[in-house]
Amino acid sequence: MASRRRLIAGNWKMNNTVPEAVVLAQEISNNFERDYSHRVDVAVLPPYVDLKPVTTVFEFDRVDIAVGAQNVYWQQAGAYTGEISVAMLKDIRCEFCLVGHSERRELFGETNEEVNLKAKALIAGGIKPIVCVGESLSMRDGGAYLDYVTAQVKAAFAGIDEAAAKECVVAYEPVWAIGTGRTATPEQAEEVCSAIRAQLSQMYGEEVSEAMRILYGGSMNEGNADLLLAMPNIDGGLIGGASLKAKSFIEIVKAALR
Ligand code: PEP
Repeated sequence: MASRRRLIAGNWKMNNTVPEAVVLAQEISNNFERDYSHRVDVAVLPPYVDLKPVTTVFEFDRVDIAVGAQNVYWQQAGAYTGEISVAMLKDIRCEFCLVGHSERRELFGETNEEVNLKAKALIAGGIKPIVCVGESLSMRDGGAYLDYVTAQVKAAFAGIDEAAAKECVVAYEPVWAIGTGRTATPEQAEEVCSAIRAQLSQMYGEEVSEAMRILYGGSMNEGNADLLLAMPNIDGGLIGGASLKAKSFIEIVKAALR
């Protein structure tokens, strides 16, 4: 594997009130050995209202765990009721932000164009986008999944230059594996992650594509993380369900250290 630092990011989705989020953050912090952060990047992505309290827990404990958001709006400010800007996230020290999670694409109609606008706004504001891509079960069964996923990557990165692309993370999350307990096999995940890297190489050249991190997400847990993370083009995990239990999340972080 090229010298890419692994990243384990926990997507809390719409879970945890502020008191619950503080308890979970504290449990993660208590179980987080300081030397983990010498070798792996770790982030949690709580709901908006939990971002600041969770950041406060990690900062108070001086533990090197980044905090990120699950969504953002691309406009700078103004009459956009219910939305949150990049500047607001930056102000509370968000380092990462998901864009294009399949739940947002499916349930909220987020398009490739919107994913691209969000990624560009994040880059301009100094937050690293985690660009989520992945095919549905029917797409996989139909056989055209590599074309579909690489087209999502192409659209998400349209107009983003090499220097900015290097700061971005891609998460391959097959929709049929999210929250279903049906994980992609390491070979299935590697096939798509390697196609994503080839697409990035076509757009940005080998040096940039080799520097970019590609995560796998979809029912990753402490039982399957080792084998998935052993694949050459999988540089970490985007963890949903298993990130809501501190011990499971930490076990996945430990797998990334091996
Ligand atoms: C996710 O929502 O990003 C995810 C990977 O969820 P889960 O791990 O629960 O499949």
